Parts: sequence; structure tokens; C-alpha cells
Amino acid sequence: MQPLERRRAYGRLWRKKWRDKNHAKAIRYERRWRAKNRDKCNEAARRLGVNLKKEVIAAYGGKCVCCGNRNYEFLTIGHTNGNGNKHRRSIGESSGRGFYRWLKRNGFPKDGFELQCMNCNCSLFWFGYCPHQREPMADRASRQEVLEPRRAPVGKGV
Ligand SMILES: [Zn+2]
Ligand SMILES: [Zn+2]
Repeated sequence: MQPLERRRAYGRLWRKKWRDKNHAKAIRYERRWRAKNRDKCNEAARRLGVNLKKEVIAAYGGKCVCCGNRNYEFLTIGHTNGNGNKHRRSIGESSGRGFYRWLKRNGFPKDGFELQCMNCNCSLFWFGYCPHQREPMADRASRQEVLEPRRAPVGKGV
């Protein structure tokens, strides 16, 4: 073993011994450190979540199967059999991140899951269909123009 490695191993051992002996103190230290670095912790956890989500999205084709939306902020995994909540409970993962972790652990199963954007997902959930499926692509673009006419910004002075 290299001297440096040995020193590191010794340091690890020493810290572990200290922690075992000073359990309460160690917990206090850690809590204080966390409180001081809360932003850093949260940021790291958030980034981890985003990375996991991006990984899941890439594994499921990167876009909404219905409308083709590619913004990861809008995308979510839909249960094609409609039993989302039941399934999440059955695997014991109620949160989105836990569910994503479950998908990754299981090699991103495609059976029963597909990538949807929030719009399509909600419409499917509440109405059992998505409006996108009832009109051809070309109509859709023109329809949107009619529904959302471009307006000049209101309330902004010259
Ligand atoms: Zn969509
Ligand atoms: Zn749709």
C-alpha cells in the first residue's frame, strides 16, 4: 500500500472510531453542517432528480408519444393501463423520483409505460382521451392559431 493510501485508510478508521465513540456529537455536527449548507444540499438533491428524470426521458424516446413535446419539464411517464396510483403504491414508491428510480432499477420497462407530456397525460387521465388524437396534425397547427390569437402585450407602457 502507498503511504498516502495508508494515511487515508488510517484517517477513515480514526474518523469512524471517533464517530462511534461520539455518536451524539457526530449527529449534532452533521445536523449543523446540513443547516449551514442547506442550499447546497437541496441543490445537489434537485440536480440528482433532474438528471434521473432526463435519463428516464431519454430511455423512453425523449418526447411525448402523443404530441411530440420535447421539454423535459413537461414530460412525465404515463401508465398506459391507467393504474398509475395503484402501481406506485404496489411498488411502494409514491413520489415521482422513487418511481423513476424503480423504472431504472427494472431496466426501463416499456410494457405499460410511455412518455407523455403533462397536457396529454392529464387529458388521458381525466377524460380518457387526448384531443390531439382526434384531429390530424395539420389541423392542429391552424386550430392553435385560432384558439390563441397573438395579442399585443397588455399593460406595458410605451
Ligand atoms: Zn403531449
Ligand atoms: Zn396529446
